Amino acid sequence: MSVKDCVFCKIVTGQIPVTKVFEDDVVLAFLDIGPISDGHTLVVPKQHFEKLHDCDAGLLSQVGSRLGKIAGAVAAGMSCDGYNVLCNNGRAAGQLVEHLHFHIIPRNLGDGIFERWPAYKYKQGLIETIAAKIRKKF
Ligand code: 5GP
Ligand code: ZN
Repeated sequence: MSVKDCVFCKIVTGQIPVTKVFEDDVVLAFLDIGPISDGHTLVVPKQHFEKLHDCDAGLLSQVGSRLGKIAGAVAAGMSCDGYNVLCNNGRAAGQLVEHLHFHIIPRNLGDGIFERWPAYKYKQGLIETIAAKIRKKF
C-alpha cells in the first residue's frame, strides 16, 4: 500500500478527522472508530512503516517510550483493571491497516473480551529446532 492511499497517513496529515488523545512530533494517539472496549486507543508513528520490524530502531524506541505514557493515561482515564497492548503484523495476524500501529485496549475483570489463546506443548526436541531457526536470522 502506498503512503498516498494509507488511511493512517491521511489521519496523521489531517485529511481524515479523528478523536485525538495525544500528539507530538513522533506519534499520534486517537480513539479507534470500532472499539472493543471504551477508550480503545490506537498509537501510530507519524512516519509510515508497514510492520514493526520495518520501523527504524531509533524511532521505534521513541514510539515505545510514548506508548507506556499513553497506556498509563488511557488506563487512568478509563479507571480500568488492566489493558492489552496489541500490534497486528500482516494480514494473517489480523492487520487490516498497513501502517504500524499499537492498540491499547482497556480491560476489566470478567469482561470476556479475549478468552485464553489456544496454547499447546511442543513435541520433544522441537523447541530447540525452532529456536535455532529464529536465532540464525539475527
Ligand atoms: P488492525 O486490524 O489493522 O490492527 O486494526 C486497525 C484498526 O483501525 C481497527 O480497529 C479499525 O477500527 C481502526 N480504524 C480503521 N480506520 C479508522 C479510521 O478512519 N478512524 C479510526 N479512528 N480508526 C480506524
Ligand atoms: Zn501510512
